[in-house]
Amino acid sequence: MNKSVPPSEFDYGPLYAPQKKVYPQKVSGTFRNIKWALMALCLGIYYILPFVRWNRGPGAPDQAVLVDLVNGRFYFFFIELWPQEVYIFTGLLILAALTLFLMNAVGGRMWCGYLCPQTVWTDLFFAVERLIEGDRRERIKKHAAKGVTFERIVELTLKHSIWLLIAWWTGGAWVLYFNDAPTLVKELVTFQAPMLAYIWIAILTATTYVLAGWMREQVCLYMCPWPRIQAALTDEWALNVTYRHDRGEQRMSLKKSAEARAAGKPAGDCVDCYQCVNVCPVGIDIRNGLQMDCIQCGLCIDACDNVMEKIGRPTHLIAYDTDINIARRQAGKKEIYRIARPRTIVYVGIIALVGSIMLYALATRSMLDINVLHDRNPIAVRLADGSIRNAYTVRLLNKRDDRTVTLDVEGLAQAVVHVVGHDSVASGRPQIVVGRDRTAELRVLVTAPAAAAGSTPLTMRVTDIASGETAAAADNFVMP
Ligand code: SF4
Ligand code: SF4
Repeated sequence: MNKSVPPSEFDYGPLYAPQKKVYPQKVSGTFRNIKWALMALCLGIYYILPFVRWNRGPGAPDQAVLVDLVNGRFYFFFIELWPQEVYIFTGLLILAALTLFLMNAVGGRMWCGYLCPQTVWTDLFFAVERLIEGDRRERIKKHAAKGVTFERIVELTLKHSIWLLIAWWTGGAWVLYFNDAPTLVKELVTFQAPMLAYIWIAILTATTYVLAGWMREQVCLYMCPWPRIQAALTDEWALNVTYRHDRGEQRMSLKKSAEARAAGKPAGDCVDCYQCVNVCPVGIDIRNGLQMDCIQCGLCIDACDNVMEKIGRPTHLIAYDTDINIARRQAGKKEIYRIARPRTIVYVGIIALVGSIMLYALATRSMLDINVLHDRNPIAVRLADGSIRNAYTVRLLNKRDDRTVTLDVEGLAQAVVHVVGHDSVASGRPQIVVGRDRTAELRVLVTAPAAAAGSTPLTMRVTDIASGETAAAADNFVMP
């Protein structure tokens, strides 16, 4: 190797740095309280929701949120979606992405810091670890200690048992969204549940335990694409957890800063106590500037505010701020915050538009539907009396209560319609009963007098006798 060659600008070091053990310290304050509240809310919803009941009438599942894979239905309180309505899910995904973009444009990685499952579960696992092994100093001491004592074995066993219990609970709750929860719980306890349920619980128990217990910040750093996407989407006006170096520097100990100030020399508000670093769940120093590792959880704000309160200096040395404001303060100008700016207004506008389209689609979607498939072989049959018969497979979809419908064929003169196995007729039209939340597959024979070769467009229409609701599908009648 030629030692005279200077390091290339591309020598960034290894792409993966071995995990450094992080021992976040306990902290109290506004952002910690927000995180506790959101954790309770998110976990509460996740664990309790499968047991919430919703009366949909006889014959329908009464679980408020249910993914019924067997019958291809998704129930969400008063909404029931069929596979044909997958566009609603597409709309939901678009809304979720736009909301994430909006959160990012307003307050940086708010999702990562407060709501992401990886953050919520890791935070919970940290709380368990702290409860059993003690706060930062004790944990560092215990992890560095050589030899294993009985007390340490008990602690580790207890910690990992509770982690596994939480992980198992997490996997267990997940499968309850796919079946009637109380029934599935009984089946799981008595080992009568489907094998797939046990497999999913095992997979999710393992992933939760490994991701939240062992990998922690490594997931955010190496596995999750959002930090990279977020970095590309952000702009200079987005509020991020920021060390206000205009106020903090020159950092020095409390004693030295008191001396400097007494001597009329400049001294920053940062007393270099490292509390902001000690509480950080990813183990970084926010004073080094905005970093991709930072999940923007705000805990360093709480830590620093506590220090500032103790030493009698103004709080918010670390705060949600922008580099623009730092530069403005340094130039003696007033801070400016631009929450409402073209980017956020566009996001809000698109969210409102997509939300309105989805609401309209939901409110006006058909509760009765019909699909028609013309027989391919034979495409048409000439009967003994010379008339022509075409056969169709017709599928009716009834998303409401039991109903009786009639079937009409429009656009074909002198057509005679017969539904195989349904001889009941109302006003000369075949009459079919379709159960609640069911589909019905019909064999429909349409006969018409012979005419010149070619095809005639026709419309098959079903009409609910009681409500008058109709649905129609187009096809053709083919002459041989
Ligand atoms: S630097 Fe502050 S905001 Fe960022 S992850 Fe650490 S504690 Fe959270
Ligand atoms: S907690 Fe505040 S005062 Fe202490 S090192 Fe961090 S920024 Fe400086």
